Amino acid sequence: MEIRSVGVVGAGQMGNGIAHVMALAEYDVLLTDVSQENLTRALNLIDRNLERQVSRDRISADEKQAALGRIRTTLKLSDLGQCDLIIEAATERETVKQAIFEDLLPHLKPETILTSNTSSISITRLASRTDRPEKFMGFHFMNPVPVMQLVELIRGIATDEATFSACLQVVNKLGKTAASAEDFPAFIVNRILMPMINEAVYTLYEGVGRVTSIDESMKLGANHPMGPLELADFIGLDTCLAIMNVLHDGLADTKYRPCPLLVKYVEAGWLGRKTDRGFYDYRGETPVPTR
Ligand code: NAD
Repeated sequence: MEIRSVGVVGAGQMGNGIAHVMALAEYDVLLTDVSQENLTRALNLIDRNLERQVSRDRISADEKQAALGRIRTTLKLSDLGQCDLIIEAATERETVKQAIFEDLLPHLKPETILTSNTSSISITRLASRTDRPEKFMGFHFMNPVPVMQLVELIRGIATDEATFSACLQVVNKLGKTAASAEDFPAFIVNRILMPMINEAVYTLYEGVGRVTSIDESMKLGANHPMGPLELADFIGLDTCLAIMNVLHDGLADTKYRPCPLLVKYVEAGWLGRKTDRGFYDYRGETPVPTR
C-alpha cells in the first residue's frame, strides 16, 4: 500500500518536527492536538524552522511554501481517520496513548497503519489494545527531527512484514536512515545512550570529575560532539530519569539503577535547558556548571 497522507497526533516538540519533515517529503499532513494554541504554536515553529533551512540554502523558498501548504491542522482526532499512516507523538504516558488509539479506531480505514513515536512504552502492549496489532509498530524519530538522520523502526511481536516495509519506504522517502529494533525497553539508541549519561552522573556524584571535566573528557577523549551532561540537559533530566526507570523495571538488572544525583536534580525541578537549570545554569549569557 502506498502511503500518501500522514496523521500526526500531538503537536509538541516531536510532532511539529514530524509534520515538518513529512510535508517536505511531499506527504499530506494532518496535525492534531488538544488545544488550538498548541497547533498555532507548532505551525509558527514549523514556519520558522523551514525559513532557517531556506536561509541556509538547504531548501528553496518555493519548497518551503509547498511544504506549509501540505500541512493542515484539526482539533478533531476523528478527522485523522482517512490518513494512510498515523504517527502518535503525544505526551509520554501510556493512558494518554491508549485513549488516543481507542478514540481513533472507529474512524480508521481498515488498511491504515498505526505507529507510535514513544521512547519507552512497549509497542506490543500498545498494539494489543487495538484492532490491528499486525499493522502497528514503533516509528521513533530523534530530536530535533529535521536535523537527526536516524529513525528507529520497532516491530511489535505481531507486526507484519508489509507494515514494516511500508514504514521503511516512508523513512527512505524522508531521506533518513532506518535502524530496525526489536521491542525491548528503550530500543537501541536510548538503551545505550541513557546508561552512558547515567554513568556520567555517577562520575559526578562520586566526585571523580566535575561537570566541565566530565563533558570535556568525553568531547575530546571520545570524540563526542556534546558532553554527556550537556546532552542530558538538552534531552531533559526528567526524560533521562524516566527512561532509566523503564530500563531498570523492564530488564530487572541493577546496572540500570538511576543515579541518586539524577533523581535529586529532577526533584529540584532542575530539568535542564527547558527549566533554565540542570547540570548547567542557563540563566546568564553563557552556561555555568552547577557542580
Ligand atoms: P511534548 O510534551 O513536547 O508534546 C506532546 C504534545 O502532545 C503536547 O502538545 C500535548 O498537548 C499533546 N497531547 C497530549 N495529549 C493529547 C491528546 N490526547 N491528543 C492530541 N495531542 C495530545 O512531548 P514530545 O517531546 O514531543 O514527545 C512526544 C512523544 O515523542 C513522546 O512519546 C516521547 O517519548 C517521544 N519522543 C520524544 C523525544 C524527545 O527528545 N523529546 C525523542 C523521541 C521520542
